[in-house]
Amino acid sequence: MNVQETMAAFDVEQIRSQFPALNQTVYGRQLVYFDNGATSQKPQIVIDAIDHYYSKDNSNIHRGVHYLSQLATQQYEDARGRIQKYINAPLSEEVLFTTGTTGGINLVAFSFGETLNEGDEIIISAMEHHSNIVPWQLLCERKKCVLKVIPINQKGELLLDAFDELLSPRTKMVAITHISNALGTINPIEEIIEKAHAVGAKVLIDGAQSVQHTTVDVQALNCDFYVFSGHKVFGPTGVGILYGKKELLDAMPPYQGGGDMIAKVTFEKTTYNELPHKFEAGTPNISGGIGLGKAIEFLEQLDMKAVQQYETELLNYAQAELLKIAGLQLIGTAAHKTSVVSFIVDGLHPFDVGTLLDKQGIAVRTGHHCTQPVMDFFKIPGTIRASFAFYNTKEEIDLFIKALKRSIEMLR
Ligand SMILES: *Cc1c(COP(=O)(O)O)cnc(C)c1O
Repeated sequence: MNVQETMAAFDVEQIRSQFPALNQTVYGRQLVYFDNGATSQKPQIVIDAIDHYYSKDNSNIHRGVHYLSQLATQQYEDARGRIQKYINAPLSEEVLFTTGTTGGINLVAFSFGETLNEGDEIIISAMEHHSNIVPWQLLCERKKCVLKVIPINQKGELLLDAFDELLSPRTKMVAITHISNALGTINPIEEIIEKAHAVGAKVLIDGAQSVQHTTVDVQALNCDFYVFSGHKVFGPTGVGILYGKKELLDAMPPYQGGGDMIAKVTFEKTTYNELPHKFEAGTPNISGGIGLGKAIEFLEQLDMKAVQQYETELLNYAQAELLKIAGLQLIGTAAHKTSVVSFIVDGLHPFDVGTLLDKQGIAVRTGHHCTQPVMDFFKIPGTIRASFAFYNTKEEIDLFIKALKRSIEMLR
């Protein structure tokens, strides 16, 4: 299929109509929202679910005998079940609600980290988000473990030969991003997981950029942990998911102590609740969990193959148009990429370009995208990043390219 045909087969206008925030003007111009890598807009069913929860069903969960509490508990646990099915997790107690990707990684780094010893090794990569770097550094300080980093090449791809050399019987954890938020690179995680398991290491996948672009099957991947954020997959902020294999979660000590995570508390000794509650201390983000369930319900209705194909068309079109601009350089040209385009323009600061784009109604992100080591590798202060979702269009890319050309002219 050519561009026109794919775009026709995928009814983007029907999808856009369900995202109210897309339909507005900023500075008197139609909003073009290309900052999906930072957070996505929300479909009406997510907004309605949160509104309904607070208007009608608001109640604390897991402990009330009364009607509303049972209703809220039911909805929250239904959301967990829906998410479990969507990522094909074997058991619902393997699906933990967290505060987001950052929350999930910190939980694993702390709690799985408690089982590590001095000299044990952890492998991450040079393209990780700060939230998949710093928790492991904190663990390494606490437990005197060693952090190793898989390098990348100029295209922004992992050097897998170097990974082979970093792996050893001392490797206890490989924590790696599925898709890079700064470069768009899709990493060969299947191969990485297999190689890590061959030396007895566990694998955590940072899926913060994945669930919105592709289907995820944690059993097929055979990863040990998988984390993502609600707000990047068309759900609310402040909620996310940590999938973990039951036998690992069972063996890990609790992360935070408090209500809901206990079986019995006395001053002498406390015993802990079973999964998933053991890792869900305190009143959770109830409306967030319910909203995330609705976001997943929204995704279920889409053909993710068609979504992927559509987004690839957007990516290819945007990249081809960008490359026609003199002095523009793409940062991140991996063979396998998702719909994220990072670039710089000779002699111009990304922030200045981003500011002028904003004044023309185009929302992009500029800066280091929480990946300072990636910027250091390319010896740049930051990039301008346009990141697309399935509700974006070729017409929006045309507006963006036009606005970008104008911005460059004004700054030169
Ligand atoms: C956004 C992002 C994170 C952090 O997600 P939060 O929602 O801020 O916790 C981690 N990794 C990647 C790849 C991301 O894109």
